[in-house]
Amino acid sequence: MNFLAHAWLARAGSDDFLYGNLIADGVKGRDLSGWSDATALGIRHHRRVDAWVDSHPCVAGARRRAPTAQRRYAGIALDMVWDHFLARDMAGRQDHEQLIERCYQLLSTRPAPNRLAGMMPLLVKHDWLRGYADFEFTCRAVAGIGRRLSGPNQLAALVPWLHDDYPRLEQDFQSLWPVLFEALSLKHSVAKTQLYSVCCRVTMKEEAMKATMRERFWERFTLEELTPPEWEALCDGCGQCCLLKLHDEETQELAVLNVACRLLDIQSCQCSDYPNRFDSVPDCTQLTPALVKEFTWLPQSCGYRRVSEGRKLAGWHPLLSNDAERVHRKGISVRSFAVSQDDVPEKQLESHIIAILPM
Ligand code: SF4
Ligand code: SF4
Repeated sequence: MNFLAHAWLARAGSDDFLYGNLIADGVKGRDLSGWSDATALGIRHHRRVDAWVDSHPCVAGARRRAPTAQRRYAGIALDMVWDHFLARDMAGRQDHEQLIERCYQLLSTRPAPNRLAGMMPLLVKHDWLRGYADFEFTCRAVAGIGRRLSGPNQLAALVPWLHDDYPRLEQDFQSLWPVLFEALSLKHSVAKTQLYSVCCRVTMKEEAMKATMRERFWERFTLEELTPPEWEALCDGCGQCCLLKLHDEETQELAVLNVACRLLDIQSCQCSDYPNRFDSVPDCTQLTPALVKEFTWLPQSCGYRRVSEGRKLAGWHPLLSNDAERVHRKGISVRSFAVSQDDVPEKQLESHIIAILPM
């Protein structure tokens, strides 16, 4: 699949998630720590889609029909042909038009990875996402990519086959897209709501806590070895773990919402009734060293996750900056974007999804 199909499969997610899906082809390697959590998720989602599509029998069959001499390049051409069918079938639909404008807005305002930096302005300027609806346009785009590869233009050499095989390729797409959409698009139906939180809020006076903490304990001890005050101090106070999450039991994915538990004070990012929270929020879960490893949805920025993975604390962490406000100023906390559960009707929860995580 190419840009358009990836956008369709990611459109229910946040802008960061969609952006990650759009630029993933320009990002190499497994280390995505330079990207925001949601963008890194989008990049991973794009890769899962590509792996799924590449292994589908329809796609394998189409590749086998390609001329032998150019067969190893057929995957690139097919990705663009799938976008052609999608663009053709969706043309004129309001949600399609809105999605394209959203993609162009994201790609115009955010820097693309180096590998795509030359291409993205052209994609927007020449309206490629709508242009794919025209098969001749798609074939010219296929040949254009071939010009950027070294050696003879093998992709241009595939274009006559794409014309000849058009009816069968169309059948392949009609078989492929519904199952792909069902399997890997961001889900709109979820089976269960779960809330998670952690026992990391400060319960001792700050000075008393500091007096008992060992020098740079987070670099010298494992989570299991921390004292209660050290454990509490490791929380950066971002409040991200108090965001609602929807668990799709079918796909085992977890959708993270920008909706905070009703007990979270969004301004301070602290629980407003920490001692009694289990009475009103039974799903609230106390974090332990074992659960840090199990809760793969904890944000990359989380102090517990960092220490558990042997990573350093970020410079804005209160333990290093001595400034509890910096987590908010840096935009790590939920203060700037969360809304309270009390303000969102349950049936609207799914429209507040900002990221999808594997469980
Ligand atoms: S995500 Fe981690 S650092 Fe942030 S509030 Fe939760 S436990 Fe604390
Ligand atoms: S009850 Fe408190 S600690 Fe638990 S999820 Fe809600 S705000 Fe967070």
